[in-house]
Amino acid sequence: MLEKIAMTTVILVSIALFAKRSRDLVGFLGLGRPDDRKPRSVGPKLKEQLVVVLGQRKLLQWTLPGAMHFFIFWGFIILFTTIVEAFGAVYQDGFHLPLIGRWGPLGAIQDFFIIAVLVGIGTAFYIRRVQQPGRFKGSHTKEAEYILYAIGAIMLTILLSRSAQIALGHFPYDTAWTPVSNAIAQLFDGMSRETVDAIDTVFIWWHSLIILAFLVYLTYSKHLHIITSGFNVLFTSERPKGALSPMHIDVEEMSEDDTFGASVITDLTWKQMLDGMTCTECGRCQSQCPAWNTGKPLNPKLVIMDLRDQLFEQGPRLLDAKRASEAELQAAVGTLPPLNPQVLEDEVIWDCTTCGACVQACPVNIEHIDVIVDMRRNLVMGESRFPREMQGALQNLETTGNPWGQPPQAREEWMRGTSKQESLEIPHISDNPDADVLLWVGCAGAFDDRNKRVMYDLGKLLQMANVNFAVLGGEESCTGDPARRMGAEYIYQMLAEQNIEVLRGHGVKKILTACPHCFNTLFNEYPQFGGMFEVLHHTEYLNELVKEGRLKPNKDMPGTITYHDPCYNARHNDVWKGAREIIETIPTASYKEMHRHGHGTFCCGAGGGRMWMEERMGKKMNMERTDEALASASDTLAVGCPYCNIMLSDGVDERHASKDMVVRDVAQILLESIELRPDSGTDGNGNGQSSNGDFPAAKEIEDSSGRAAGPDDPQTTG
Ligand code: SF4
Ligand code: SF4
Repeated sequence: MLEKIAMTTVILVSIALFAKRSRDLVGFLGLGRPDDRKPRSVGPKLKEQLVVVLGQRKLLQWTLPGAMHFFIFWGFIILFTTIVEAFGAVYQDGFHLPLIGRWGPLGAIQDFFIIAVLVGIGTAFYIRRVQQPGRFKGSHTKEAEYILYAIGAIMLTILLSRSAQIALGHFPYDTAWTPVSNAIAQLFDGMSRETVDAIDTVFIWWHSLIILAFLVYLTYSKHLHIITSGFNVLFTSERPKGALSPMHIDVEEMSEDDTFGASVITDLTWKQMLDGMTCTECGRCQSQCPAWNTGKPLNPKLVIMDLRDQLFEQGPRLLDAKRASEAELQAAVGTLPPLNPQVLEDEVIWDCTTCGACVQACPVNIEHIDVIVDMRRNLVMGESRFPREMQGALQNLETTGNPWGQPPQAREEWMRGTSKQESLEIPHISDNPDADVLLWVGCAGAFDDRNKRVMYDLGKLLQMANVNFAVLGGEESCTGDPARRMGAEYIYQMLAEQNIEVLRGHGVKKILTACPHCFNTLFNEYPQFGGMFEVLHHTEYLNELVKEGRLKPNKDMPGTITYHDPCYNARHNDVWKGAREIIETIPTASYKEMHRHGHGTFCCGAGGGRMWMEERMGKKMNMERTDEALASASDTLAVGCPYCNIMLSDGVDERHASKDMVVRDVAQILLESIELRPDSGTDGNGNGQSSNGDFPAAKEIEDSSGRAAGPDDPQTTG
């Protein structure tokens, strides 16, 4: 009786502690900004729970740690039955689960998972102690090991208790089904019944106490993810992967007290707070982050952990204030330290290229980019504090509608071609309102010399394939992608609304673009402002033209081609097949994949507005990717993005490797394989700044762009 009273007391105290902490944690979430995350589509959500949570799909992308976690996770689910049996045994000798408690296969599964979890724990120690992957740098590794010890103890105590029960003769399962427990039961041969009974009691108690302590402790530790992961996956954004969260800006209703983005911890949404509580500190995001991998201060794992620590530090007093009154809460919020630079250095926030590698890698669907951009929004719109080299690009976007600061009439320069080429005659949309597709040129395609060449070749391919297309010419403005990702949401919204009005005014339905950033913004973000268009990336569109036989690559191009996947194609939009299929059709060319490709591609360093910021620390990202491309020993580095084109061409030039490798857009490669032109393939990276066949206005345009020289120059210099 005493034993039952003691166990009941321990259980009730543990549940009370667990409930109190859980109530506080839910209260912390209530401090955050609202975020409508009501699941709208039951089917996909259910599938995500089955695949990501129960199937552990994202974890299993990494074979050894994935398998280890899979068995521990499923072990805990299956062994919930042994936990109930253990507690039941305190209250009743020979306790068994109703209905299934004597079913041999259940005993067998329990035996299997006890061993599987123990093997999993051994593997976890092997990974942490022997392999020592860098991704754990900055994680609470000691805490993780204590948890592993605790789980190991839970397994060993239940195994020994089961064996003692076999020796005592009140084990509920036929021992033929439980060979492991049965073998260990031999240890008790020769012991008196009283001794074995006492041993069983000790193991049951240890088992129960560790579980109850674990239950309370996990609400204070990173193992909180055991409870929150399912919810975090359930409330994952249903926005397209590449779309940032919309922000309501009403200039007329604005007051001085309004905050933009995230200034203090309570400016985070409840979902961003839940992200922090769910982080497992596994470091998968950090291991994939191009900023961290090239020696920058940004570490996406530490961003999430530092925000969580700030919430846990400030949460209790904010919650007390909230429980007192709204006025006290506001007073407490007024004393919160700013997130930047107190919790996270400004530099950390500006290092991000929004490449999405972290989000892709995270096994519990944490959304790093949104929170980073929210902090940028505050720095730009609330504090006017940002890298000084961004100033020129933002001003240009606001005044001329493009970061290069060029006049609208210069948007059609690319059609003139180089001095060795004939001008292309491409109609403006108002002269060809029945065009099947609108060619969206993009700012880089219109103003950067090497990308003007790409646009020229793309225009030529479309004409060769008899595509009925048109352009907007000077009516086109930047989609706003760089402004939005720099945190200048008001400039983005101005540009987006302007473009949508122009596109609608011309009745445009289908848009073709050679820029993944334009593609992503037009396709995934303009619907937030009512702009619904069919948008195609040129690699996919050209591939269709080749498949239809409207373009026929027939010239030999001996040599090896590798392809660099742009993040905004492959990772954010699952666009990666077209480029490869086009290359495969080119006679005599062979294709070689780089180590990091497809969803696992490595950023060129220009996304997220970083094109317009200086990279001051560590190795430059474009050089890292260029080195990887050069290591593939390919002759041609194919690209499908104007930013990647600039960054990687500069990288090859900086390595003085233009004799070994040329950088070409897929459109250029395709055109070369259809007709070899006198000026193709002979000028290194074809940057358009060499003496052969330059765009006549190239230098003039660069000088008048408003781009600062020297250290303020964007990363086009590599
Ligand atoms: S989006 Fe890319 S650069 Fe930014 S934190 Fe994630 S992995 Fe790093
Ligand atoms: S954010 Fe995700 S990937 Fe990064 S450490 Fe946390 S759980 Fe792991």
